[in-house]
Amino acid sequence: MDRKAMFEKASKTRKENIESEKRGNYTSDYDQIDFVGLKKGEDKLLKIMSQPLDVPACERTPFDMKKIAVSFITDERGKKTRFILPTKSEDKGFFLYRVIGKVLACDWVEGTDGKKKRKYKYEETYPQLFNRVAKNAKDPKEKGYSYERGWYPSETIIMNVIDKGTPEWNEAHKHTKILAKSVNEVTNDKGELVTYANPGVPKSVYAMIWDGIVEYEGPWDEYDIQIKKIENDPYYIVKLASGVKEPLTDIEKTYEMFDIDKNYKVSSYTLIYNRLGKFIKEVDGAFGTKFFEEIEGLVAVEKAQWAKEKAENPETDTESKDTETKDTAEKDTTEKETTKVNSRKPVVEEKVEDKVVTFVALKNEKVIELYPFIKELSTEQLEMITGIKENGSLEYDGFDQIYSCMDEKCDCKTPNPFTICPKCGKALQ
Ligand SMILES: [Zn+2]
Repeated sequence: MDRKAMFEKASKTRKENIESEKRGNYTSDYDQIDFVGLKKGEDKLLKIMSQPLDVPACERTPFDMKKIAVSFITDERGKKTRFILPTKSEDKGFFLYRVIGKVLACDWVEGTDGKKKRKYKYEETYPQLFNRVAKNAKDPKEKGYSYERGWYPSETIIMNVIDKGTPEWNEAHKHTKILAKSVNEVTNDKGELVTYANPGVPKSVYAMIWDGIVEYEGPWDEYDIQIKKIENDPYYIVKLASGVKEPLTDIEKTYEMFDIDKNYKVSSYTLIYNRLGKFIKEVDGAFGTKFFEEIEGLVAVEKAQWAKEKAENPETDTESKDTETKDTAEKDTTEKETTKVNSRKPVVEEKVEDKVVTFVALKNEKVIELYPFIKELSTEQLEMITGIKENGSLEYDGFDQIYSCMDEKCDCKTPNPFTICPKCGKALQ
């Protein structure tokens, strides 16, 4: 394609994207999820519902727990966007895995100590591309560089649970909740309460439940468990609830559950194309790969599929979901247990901009006043804020260390991933 044609095409894509973004927000295919969020130092009493991982595919239902892979990728707008990937064991040939694998290709070379060491092939020859994938384009001097996972996904387990700490809610709703690593509630500009959750728990928590409880006590229908998030390794304590065992009751058996397959789908190719297309082109330019052509093809197939679904079911406007955006941002992820590859629909991505914010959960209108630049934070960063202390300083969850502002006159402290000070607006590089 020559330059002119490329620009024309980009112009067309741009317009389509703008249109698509405008239409965004349409989320009829996704449920409003209720979460039970883990909080540091707080015991949560839970009844795990549904079938475990590792049941035969033919026995599995969409409500059963599921392992998904999530990457937070700084996209072409400079915003961190959540992508849900199939897990490696489901589909290690997934498009994004191959792009990541190409850029981060490595050899094993013998180090001076005689041990084999990983050496990235393109770290020096294509430092920009490399850094983009390995470190989300962070500068080594930037805060949080060493913790930055880049495009590497983390695996997380999504599950339906009964929150035993909210008996009235359970009684009224007769519904499960989704267990989440953290939950934060804020109001948006329209005054609506918005929940930011980081759904799921690490594989390590599932292992603790299984190896520490299920192996001895049998199926979880027979008892409740307690999970507590703690400051240090192993970061979670999981145990059998104390006292008399409380088996699942007949009423609890009738509780509705969230459809995990539906709500935690793998990100669409369209989202990948829209958010990372330019980068993918650069990768092709450097390595002579054909990723861009491939993603265009995948997007075309996907769009056709959505159009077909739309025609069959006019109620559901699947197309409009493709770019992103749901303001009720839960961050989830999905693993596809087996088949159903061709009906992938876009994942709901949190809308990062024009967000925010008074911390209704804290009933403290002063937050905006104290932290005027809080609006500049990404959704992901906002999620890290779990409260405000009496002295007006912010509380964060899941960080061993927080850092002073770069501005000496400012007393605000933030964890590593923050790129801007919510108090004084100073860029934190
Ligand atoms: Zn500051």
